[in-house]
Amino acid sequence: MARPYGKEAQRRRQERKAAVRRRQIAGALEEWHASAFAHALEQFDEAARRLRLTENQIAMTKLPRRITEVLLPVRMDDGTIRNFRAFRVQHNMVRGPAKGGIRFHQDVTVDEVKALAFWMTYKCAVVNIPMGGAKGGVVVDPRTLSPGERERLSRRYMAEMIDLFGPDSDVPGPDVNTGPQVMSWMLDTYVMHKRDFLPGVITGKPIELGGSAGRHSATSRGIVCCIHKAAERLNLDLRTATAAIQGFGNVGSNAAKFLTQSGVKIVAISDVDGAYRNMAGIDVDAAIAHVARRGSLTGFKGATLLRRRSQLLELPVDILVPAALENQITTQNARRVRARLIAEGANGPTTPDADEILEGQGTFVIPDILCNAGGVTVSYLEWVQNRMGYYWPEARVNDDLKRIMESAFDEVYALARRRRVSMRIAAFMLAIRRVTEASEMRGLYA
Ligand code: NAD
Repeated sequence: MARPYGKEAQRRRQERKAAVRRRQIAGALEEWHASAFAHALEQFDEAARRLRLTENQIAMTKLPRRITEVLLPVRMDDGTIRNFRAFRVQHNMVRGPAKGGIRFHQDVTVDEVKALAFWMTYKCAVVNIPMGGAKGGVVVDPRTLSPGERERLSRRYMAEMIDLFGPDSDVPGPDVNTGPQVMSWMLDTYVMHKRDFLPGVITGKPIELGGSAGRHSATSRGIVCCIHKAAERLNLDLRTATAAIQGFGNVGSNAAKFLTQSGVKIVAISDVDGAYRNMAGIDVDAAIAHVARRGSLTGFKGATLLRRRSQLLELPVDILVPAALENQITTQNARRVRARLIAEGANGPTTPDADEILEGQGTFVIPDILCNAGGVTVSYLEWVQNRMGYYWPEARVNDDLKRIMESAFDEVYALARRRRVSMRIAAFMLAIRRVTEASEMRGLYA
């Protein structure tokens, strides 16, 4: 056979290289997400051991109850049909309908969705809202879709999974790369199938379609509420405190804004493209306006670009808010974290081994399942308002959110002190106990 020469040979070599690279990345991601689920289970085991759960209790609470995987065929703008892998994991529904967002991302794996669904069960239980845990995901890079393709994909997801969803069974919401518009298409698809207008089937909707006032900034409000509580316990004066925020999306930027309003000086912020530092204090409004204009922090003039993005985690600040992704504080960098207080805005930003290091060095960590539960709390309030058909002003929503977050913080803190465990283990103990008690009261059907 004739050997290909010149450009053709080069093209084939490049294709082979790209294929190898794709396989390597896929393998690494599988491992990374498998580790997120493994970390979630380690957290469970530690709390279960301290609660002295029986094997039967563990059998009813630890693993996801239902994992659904489908292929979504979508007609692309050029007429071709592409299949997208999609998941819905329902982890536990013993305390109420399952609750959890739907993520559109090219790196979604079933293990990642299992970990996120697990955290949702225990997040709802920590703040004591009557819902269980679930999560959904579609393997797609949404930047490669036109608005029409994105709409057809969203509608097909709801249509394929429609038997799982309902205001009394499983209530999805937005997550990474899915917002109010995707929720509106999914709601419309549900309503057209069921012939009933049931806005409580999905949360994170636009206000015009039954969304709740205050939902957009609820996660960050909850985080800042926890920071206030922790600062009291640590005798940390927020008016002289400094903070670094990793991730400058919805959660990170709003947390920066609310912290500034509490007198905290934000000295570093970052996004996927880089980290920026200004020890005199960053003008948060200017940074938010820059991102609104440019789509990222790139080119932000109000601070100096750090050499490495991860340097932000190691700065000498009082408060660190990881608000980007999972597995950011690991054994590789935990010893270099100098913040006194870590408020986990992201889900799973700290690995269990890193947690031990932080505990050993006396860092106070407000764990994700408590710290970022403000988002699901206001989603629950949205669902309540949908079911009443009566809508509250934002001040009422914010008051309820504050009351729920403060009470959850106090309960977790008291348990941590009483049992001499970290805030994370205490949060899991409180949550697992609630799920276990509800499960035993219901008993085992059939
Ligand atoms: P988002 O997409 O609005 O923002 C994410 C931000 O993180 C972006 O600025 C992105 O550039 C940045 N980022 C990504 N990788 C990074 C990296 N390696 N280093 C630094 N920055 C990086 O998402 P969001 O809604 O703000 O969510 C952030 C985190 O909070 C996620 O883990 C999410 O699951 C969690 N969370 C969100 C909510 C919510 O209500 N939005 C609720 C609970 C938990």
